[in-house]
This record gives sequence, C-alpha cells and structure tokens, in this order.
Amino acid sequence: RKRDPIVVAKQVTRRFGGINAVDVDYLEIPRHKITALIGPNGAGKTTFFNLLTGFDQPNSGEWTFDGHPLSGVSSYKVARMGMIRTFQLTKVMGKLTVLENMRLGAADQPGERLFKALFRNLWGGREREITEQANVLLQKFKLDTKRDDYAASLSGGQRKLLEMARSLMARPKLVMLDEPMAGVNPALTQSLLEHIKNLKAEGMSVLFVEHDMQMVRYIADWVVVMAEGKVVAEGPPAEVMKDQAVIDAYLGAH
Ligand code: ATP
Repeated sequence: RKRDPIVVAKQVTRRFGGINAVDVDYLEIPRHKITALIGPNGAGKTTFFNLLTGFDQPNSGEWTFDGHPLSGVSSYKVARMGMIRTFQLTKVMGKLTVLENMRLGAADQPGERLFKALFRNLWGGREREITEQANVLLQKFKLDTKRDDYAASLSGGQRKLLEMARSLMARPKLVMLDEPMAGVNPALTQSLLEHIKNLKAEGMSVLFVEHDMQMVRYIADWVVVMAEGKVVAEGPPAEVMKDQAVIDAYLGAH
C-alpha cells in the first residue's frame, strides 16, 4: 500500500523554558481521513497545531503539507496553501454579521485580500461568487436564518458551527479543529459530528483535537496519542483504545 500523507512532520520540537511542549520524532497525518489528536492536558496538542499552521515557530524540525515544505512559512500563507484551523476559543467577530464573518474566511483563498473581504464596495468581480459560496455554506450549517445578525448574538455552539463554515470559505485541503465539540450543547453536537464526517466525504482531510473518547470513536479513522510532547501511540481507534498502556496513562482521566 502506497502511503500519501497530507502532513509529514520530522523531529519537530518546541520548548518553553525547560519544558519540551512538542518533541515529535516522526508523524504522518493521513490524507482523506479523519484523524483525532488526543492526550492529557498539557500534552502539546495545541502547540503542535500552532506550529503546523505557522502561528508559532519551532526550535527545530521540518514538515511538509501536501508535499510542500512548510517550516518558517507564515500563518496566512499556510492558510492559502489549504491548511485551515479553528481555535479552542472561537475567533468569531462579534461586531460583524454572520455573513461578514463568512466573507472574512474568503480572504484565506489564494488571490483574496482581507480588506476586500471587509469592505464589500471594494470587492470587485468576485463579490457575487463569494456571497453565493457563503450562502450555500450557511444553509448547509443551518445558519442562513442568522445571516444578517451580529455574530455576538450566536450561542457557543452556533459560533463553533460558524467558525467551521467560515474555514470552508477558503476551500481547504486540510481542516484542523481544536476541540470543536467543547462547550457545545448535545443538540448541536450531533450536527457538528455529521459536518465533520461530511468534510471527509467531500474530499478533505481532517485533524481534530478532542477529549471525549466516545466522539473520537464515532468519527475518527485514525488516532494519534500525544503525551509530554511525544507521539506515544497511533492507529485505528479500536486498536489504540484497547492499548492498556494508553488507557492507563493517558485516557484514564477522561
Ligand atoms: P490542553 O488539552 O489542556 O489544551 P495541550 O495538549 O493542548 O493541552 P499545550 O497547550 O500545547 O497542551 O501545552 C503543552 C505544554 O506547553 C504545557 O506544559 C504548557 O504549559 C506549555 N506551554 C504552551 N504554550 C506556552 C507558552 N506560550 N508559554 C509557556 N508555556 C507554554
């Protein structure tokens, strides 16, 4: 079987003072699959996300995305190459409408500029196309009735949905979700899970951080277990979660 991973990371380290927050020897993230990154608090999951997406720089190491070297590439360039992430605490703009937030997502498309996304009058030829794309996504995420409301009026779960929808405006190849289910009420959890599955069905690769093992088991094709910055296990969910060492050391608290 020929492997064709979307991300390959080699000897990536990030230290904070005396702590090796990330110390990954070698890691592949499979293409066209849903991969869960799990591990206890402080394992280095968010730091690893930050490194991959250019929001933080490593002390050493290199990695590729879709075959392209990415070390030292800034976050907005990473986004335009097709790797889009969401944050543990959503970065939705409360004083903009839902539609305006969506337009901001389009600024991550190659050739788009942030100020164009913000000031529609300066948009030029692509305004209609981008609004249409936003409308389709808002409908899919059942946010179309909120289109002209300020994002500040959305519930926590709706913000998570908006953030996921907005990330798709960039037409990403890899979607990275940092605790997408945290703080989401049960009614919206199921719909978020279905949306994540749909990303894969539409040809995207997904990497997500999650603490809830039931959800990981439900949607992940592949699980990477991190502890103290290192990858300590990886494999299909059923196998990884059977691993007694993983259960004892890393999953016991959850
Ligand atoms: P959680 O599940 O709680 O989100 P995590 O697996 O995402 O945890 P990180 O947030 O990546 O873990 O943290 C890894 C380690 O690096 C922790 O020991 C943390 O205290 C440390 N760390 C992270 N960011 C910084 C920073 N900016 N300055 C100093 N230490 C940091």
